[in-house]
Amino acid sequence: MSGLRKPKIAVIGSSSMDLVVTSKKRPQAGETVLGEMFETVPGGKGANQAVAAAKLGADVYMIGCVGDDPYGEQILDNFKRKGVHTDYVEPVTHQKSGTAHIILAEGDNSIVVVKGANDFVTPAYVKKTQSLLAECDLVMIQQEIPEETVEEAAAICKQLGVPLLLNPAPARKVSGTIVDQVAYLTPNEHEAALLFPGVDPKEALKKYPNKLFITEGAAGVRYFDGTKEVLVPSFPVKAVDTTGAGDTFNAAFGTAMAEGQGMKESLRFANRAASLSVTGFGAQGGMPTRQEVEEEMR
Ligand code: ATP
Repeated sequence: MSGLRKPKIAVIGSSSMDLVVTSKKRPQAGETVLGEMFETVPGGKGANQAVAAAKLGADVYMIGCVGDDPYGEQILDNFKRKGVHTDYVEPVTHQKSGTAHIILAEGDNSIVVVKGANDFVTPAYVKKTQSLLAECDLVMIQQEIPEETVEEAAAICKQLGVPLLLNPAPARKVSGTIVDQVAYLTPNEHEAALLFPGVDPKEALKKYPNKLFITEGAAGVRYFDGTKEVLVPSFPVKAVDTTGAGDTFNAAFGTAMAEGQGMKESLRFANRAASLSVTGFGAQGGMPTRQEVEEEMR
């Protein structure tokens, strides 16, 4: 990180507790089976991206909500241990924390997500954080919070002149106004198809030069640089668990851009960090530190 300023980043998004059961057999409707293992792991796209950016050297402020339950306390505790500022994470009275109920069985997963307190990350809540947003080098947001909140954040950041990175995941339609207002948009191929229905991805990239970045898993990331389409390849690794690859990619790209690195360098850095993340288990578990990424890039 030598010579680079520590950037200030706010992440507006979800924070949840993943409740993970490992079982040989997936229960059918009305059936009970005995599982093998149970684990609770902090997750949520917002939280994952905040933790990843902090590990990569950014000064990160999480803007989100947790429930007034023990999971909420554990989520806050995890942020603190990972070096993420929690001054803008509010416990919501009489609400449960967001949870993801995950069954790993028969080589696949089934997931039920309950949004809980994440639904309370409202436009009004984000408006209250304007003075923080104004001081940031970059703001990051995803789509596990209400759509109106993404709209409000895009409008505020545009007005403040602070770049907003929208990772449009999970997939849902995004208004043309939001697309115009954000600085960077980072769908995977599936999300891109939903964002620009019936449009050839190559045409979409051309329409949004240096703004639209389509991630393509192990292949890397594609964008249009104003003159030509560019594929920045990822790094070959032995993938163990790709959960959280997108979150690490976004955090690393946002951190590098906020530091003032060039676009291509930032994408290379993001690919390197994300490729390292798939070599470890779990979303936050696999996220590399700055030092680990830099050692690999030498
Ligand atoms: P996920 O939902 O699994 O977190 P995603 O679907 O949002 O990820 P992908 O396009 O699959 O996003 O991956 C994001 C980035 O992660 C890629 O652009 C690449 O840099 C890196 N990546 C993902 N899978 C691999 C892999 N198998 N080998 C190397 N890099 C990978």
